[in-house]
Amino acid sequence: MNQRKMAFDPGQYVKLLPGLVGIVLNKAQYLAATKLLKQGQKPGRYFAPGCCQHPDYVIQIPVLFEDETFDVMRAMNIKHIDSPPPKKRQKLRTIIEKLDQYSRREQTMEDCIFCKIVKGEIPCFKVYEDDKVLAFEDINPIDLGHTLIIPKNHAENLFEIPDEDLAAIHLAAKKIARGIREALNPTGIACLQLNGKGANQVVMHYHFHLVPRHEGAPELPITSWELKPGDMGAIEETAKKIAAAIEG
Ligand code: 5GP
Ligand code: ZN
Repeated sequence: MNQRKMAFDPGQYVKLLPGLVGIVLNKAQYLAATKLLKQGQKPGRYFAPGCCQHPDYVIQIPVLFEDETFDVMRAMNIKHIDSPPPKKRQKLRTIIEKLDQYSRREQTMEDCIFCKIVKGEIPCFKVYEDDKVLAFEDINPIDLGHTLIIPKNHAENLFEIPDEDLAAIHLAAKKIARGIREALNPTGIACLQLNGKGANQVVMHYHFHLVPRHEGAPELPITSWELKPGDMGAIEETAKKIAAAIEG
């Protein structure tokens, strides 16, 4: 076993000789840090420029320091320490959490089928594209012309999608619905958007369905629920609860 690697495992605290405290990053955190550095979105205040590009941290050890700089150090320039002061430790942990969040999100995007369509790694039957959205035909259509509109930036659902992407989706929906109407002359168009597994969302990348309806096509159950008066007291109570939650 390599002694240096053992001495500097990810998550261990180290001290730079002048006295700066840092934490050793794991490979995913290291990659997240270098990507964030490239994109100019820093998990901390800034990352020191000129960090080493080699992911091999056996000899070169990626360290995040308490002053929110990041660098790849040579083992001989840092010293292991057991327990840094709690404040410094907390600060380092906060930045590490941001790096972990970033790499989890990157992983999700790598695995996401709609992100692959956006990147052109999987083909699609495109009908519309602008800088924020992409629209293409569903390959398991409820009926011909069933179109999905997605944001180019990954967001899982209505809770996550940024306002400007949501607005772009709805503006695109208006254009595409007109296109569907002109091309297919449907009797109507149903808009459908599912959030969460409980609502039967299958692809965890926000998407807005446009489903043209045609004479004689089988009913869409979601669009034809039984109109049976509800309990007005319960409806009123629920409305109050939601309104209060919105007001915060
Ligand atoms: P959800 O239930 O999540 O609202 O619907 C996901 C939709 O995505 C389904 O209608 C499904 O047919 C569609 N879909 C899943 N994978 C692909 C794909 O690779 N390409 C296209 N064009 N549609 C897909
Ligand atoms: Zn995605």
